[in-house]
Amino acid sequence: MSCAVITGASRGIGRGIALTLAKGGHNIVINYRSENPEITSLVNEIESLGVKCLALQKDVSDFDQAKELIDLTAAEFGQIDILVNNAGITKDKLIARMKEEDFDQVMKVNVNGTFNCTKHALKYMMKQKHGVIVNMSSVVGIRGNMGQANYSASKGAVISFTKSCAQEFARYNVRVNAIAPGFIQTDMTDVLPEEVKASILSGIPMNKLGTIQDVADAVEFLVSSKASYITGQVLSVNGGMV
Ligand code: NAP
Repeated sequence: MSCAVITGASRGIGRGIALTLAKGGHNIVINYRSENPEITSLVNEIESLGVKCLALQKDVSDFDQAKELIDLTAAEFGQIDILVNNAGITKDKLIARMKEEDFDQVMKVNVNGTFNCTKHALKYMMKQKHGVIVNMSSVVGIRGNMGQANYSASKGAVISFTKSCAQEFARYNVRVNAIAPGFIQTDMTDVLPEEVKASILSGIPMNKLGTIQDVADAVEFLVSSKASYITGQVLSVNGGMV
């Protein structure tokens, strides 16, 4: 049975991806950073779908902790078939008010975290001669966004990182793609002020926020054999925004 590691999977989009891939018959590793009392019930819910599930609390922005995440996965399941680099944070501010640490922290999780897990997983995927990686970008990584210069820069970097990895890893039969969600209903968007949400909605041709399942379905497609000739691409899941 194949094995999928999903970073940032304690809640939101990552949790939805973990449940969707579990329903598809993959053993699952859920990664998260903060203490979370709901992890045990998520592990039980995933295992009730007939697959194994391991929960690993590691900060992916830390190179050594990312290595532990990947090495422990390989030790448990003997292989790493799928890596979804989903963990991400925001620290939204206009640049005039943005502190150096607001910029650095977002880059460290969103960009370094993606690099760290990819680098460590590649070692196993090269040996296996197969693997699929999906990186979570964002619509704002394509078009920028006022008040999100740090986050937009990080998600733009995820796209160019994805394209570079796809070119480097194709010879090992490892595919790498990115998903660029628009505005999805999660904790990350719940904190936005109502007027910001209204203005976002007015810019979405389909006139609704996306769901976690919309993104999880796109991941399921990209990791499947139906996408076996697709690499280095960015799949937008945004209701027609860009
Ligand atoms: P969320 O609800 O805030 O969940 C983020 C997840 O990432 C949590 O499980 C969190 O764990 C984990 N995480 C954060 N930093 C981490 C670290 N250093 N190491 C390990 N795990 C870490 O976010 P979401 O809305 O589901 O977003 C998921 C991804 O989609 C992110 O990359 C985000 O940028 C992207 N995205 C979201 C939207 C949207 O509208 N929601 C749109 C475009 C792209 P803790 O609870 O421990 O912090």
